[in-house]
Amino acid sequence: EGRSIVFASGKGGTGKTTTVANLGVALAQFGKEVILIDADITMANLSLVLGMEDIPITLHDVLAREADLKDAIYEGPAGVKVIPGGLSLEKIKKAKPERLREVIREISQMADFILIDAPAGLEMTSVTALLIGKELIIVTNPEISAITDSLKTKLIAEKLGTLPLGAVLNRVTNEKTELTQEEIEAILEVPVLAVIPEDPEVKRASAYGVPLVIKNPTSPAAIAIKQLAAKLAGIK
Ligand code: ADP
Ligand code: MG
Repeated sequence: EGRSIVFASGKGGTGKTTTVANLGVALAQFGKEVILIDADITMANLSLVLGMEDIPITLHDVLAREADLKDAIYEGPAGVKVIPGGLSLEKIKKAKPERLREVIREISQMADFILIDAPAGLEMTSVTALLIGKELIIVTNPEISAITDSLKTKLIAEKLGTLPLGAVLNRVTNEKTELTQEEIEAILEVPVLAVIPEDPEVKRASAYGVPLVIKNPTSPAAIAIKQLAAKLAGIK
């Protein structure tokens, strides 16, 4: 059975989708079987970051029981498999988040890693996403407000029986106003697994619709994400 890891945050826009997309590609480049699932039901955008076009059937159709799961699994960059979310409001309304659990169960045998791109916050869809992974990685920015919100996410995940592996610090600039890695570890009581710097190449890559680790593999953020992939894959 593959490892199912939820990428979640308290605050929005911390970099969950960026991390999931690029980490997935990096793990695939290390020879791992990877499935990425866009569990951000109302704000699905994972397929955009991956540059995938022409997606007739999405996770939303599956959650609405209007399509088979196998028809919503697409091949993305570097051979990662992707279950994209739908963009139409009509479909979002019909989707039943509870069914996500069954979906994860069905795909758990199909890959080494199942990376779940979660919505921010603690609304129903976010809590559902926290429930469906066995492990949690918090994606946060090194600011106090983001960290305190992430702490709530971590505590809820633990209550639900999801194991917090650690935190990814994203958009790090090393300005004095940022919390240090040690301070963040003390607050969240989990290790920092990766420090991803603020990197203009991130936005450039997503505008191109090509994952950063492919478009610009030597950029600072790409290197940090590849190091995280190596850690998770057990390659040191
Ligand atoms: P989330 O999924 O948590 O809402 P995203 O991954 O969509 O966050 O990222 C939010 C925005 O921040 C996007 O415009 C993305 O390009 C940008 N971004 C993410 N990580 C970085 C980074 N390390 N450096 C610069 N911009 C980043
Ligand atoms: Mg996102």
